Amino acid sequence: MSDKIKKCKTWNVPCSVMAENSVNPIRNLVDSMTITPNPEKDMIALSIGDPTIFGNLPYCEVAENAVIEAIKGRKSNGYTASVGYESARLAVADYTSTPTSVVTAKDVILTSGCSSALDLCISCLANPGQNMLMPLPGFSIYKTLAESLGIEVRNYKLLPEKSWEADLNHIEELIDENTAGIIVNNPSNPCGSVYSKEHLEAILEICEKNKLPVIADEIYEHFVFCGSKYYSLASLTTTVPILSCSGLTKRFLVPGWRMGWIVIHDLNDIFVNVRRGLVKLSQRILGPNTLVQQAIPDILKNTSSEFFEDTLVHMKNNAEIFYSRFREIIGLTPIMPQGAMYMMVGIDIETFPVFKCDIQFVEALVKEQSVFCLPASCFQYPNYFRVVLTIPETKVAEACDRIEEFCKKYYVARNGMNNGNNGVNGHH
Ligand SMILES: *Cc1c(COP(=O)(O)O)cnc(C)c1O
Repeated sequence: MSDKIKKCKTWNVPCSVMAENSVNPIRNLVDSMTITPNPEKDMIALSIGDPTIFGNLPYCEVAENAVIEAIKGRKSNGYTASVGYESARLAVADYTSTPTSVVTAKDVILTSGCSSALDLCISCLANPGQNMLMPLPGFSIYKTLAESLGIEVRNYKLLPEKSWEADLNHIEELIDENTAGIIVNNPSNPCGSVYSKEHLEAILEICEKNKLPVIADEIYEHFVFCGSKYYSLASLTTTVPILSCSGLTKRFLVPGWRMGWIVIHDLNDIFVNVRRGLVKLSQRILGPNTLVQQAIPDILKNTSSEFFEDTLVHMKNNAEIFYSRFREIIGLTPIMPQGAMYMMVGIDIETFPVFKCDIQFVEALVKEQSVFCLPASCFQYPNYFRVVLTIPETKVAEACDRIEEFCKKYYVARNGMNNGNNGVNGHH
């Protein structure tokens, strides 16, 4: 008793291990970088994966009106079931169903953005001490979520020389009896890759063989450039159970609305317990924002195809400009995306001997040229940087000019000869 009193004399309030272990690698790395732009040049931020920041991509008018109607209707201010309104879930089911993967409202759980959908799925599939397979490079929140829960991350390689297809042998090598699932992100952030039907089927075959459930991060579903075709994983299997995560965020250009969902694809009742678990987990938060939920049927049914096409034309056009320009810059290797909002660019770091890694390269690029690209070390993938395709076209050329000038200045050929201007020689 007296001991207890003594202990309580001073305040000591630590935060939980789980909170302590919730580390976002992008924030960590970007916050530790020296980002001081050149005061002579206006900043061009190619780093931020938020399509709203430049104000050049008009967001969906149908969505705007649907939410206004929801507010005026005065009927969407109370609690819903924690999995969401039936009408909204039905609309998501209709939106997601394909001829080979039909789902109904009972297969849909609405969440606060796609991140929250991923959180529920990872939490529901794995226990601490188990492991989960995740793409490398990949979206950094997967690792943040898993590691805070004590779930081991096992990264499977994506192959830049094969347009970022997954290394199938590597996936198989990583699987053991403690593997609780695999995350597949198609189309991909940060790669902008869109997988072929054949590649997705090859991944599914491994899952079937090893009885591995899938979390499909399909937040960029249908977000593919003309010439590519999108297949949902679930549309290609009758045997592998899949939790597909998506939402309004990217395709409808409203990340701040925080509306996402999980669609449970489970033709063979393998996910009976997982389904129950997901509903239980949804009750921790009591469901996402009701105004946006109320607007979902209208948004998903009535957004015009022109709206999507306009966005995609913009992305593809920027991708083509970036790609053709970067290809001409000695020391850089761009990889052409087929979808989403990003492009990865390899830095042949040995040919820039004054920089040790992508982080130093990017820091100097900001300091001299006021162009900020995201170092791919954020994705644990050093010596690449990621650019966003969302920026206004007029800024793309300017950004490329500056990056070119910068690379010419620091490029040193492998034989020691400097092919650029004013460069630094030697230093190997
Ligand atoms: C943006 C993004 C998300 C998160 O979306 P929110 O709905 O904003 O939570 C999930 N996965 C990937 C790959 C993303 O790029």
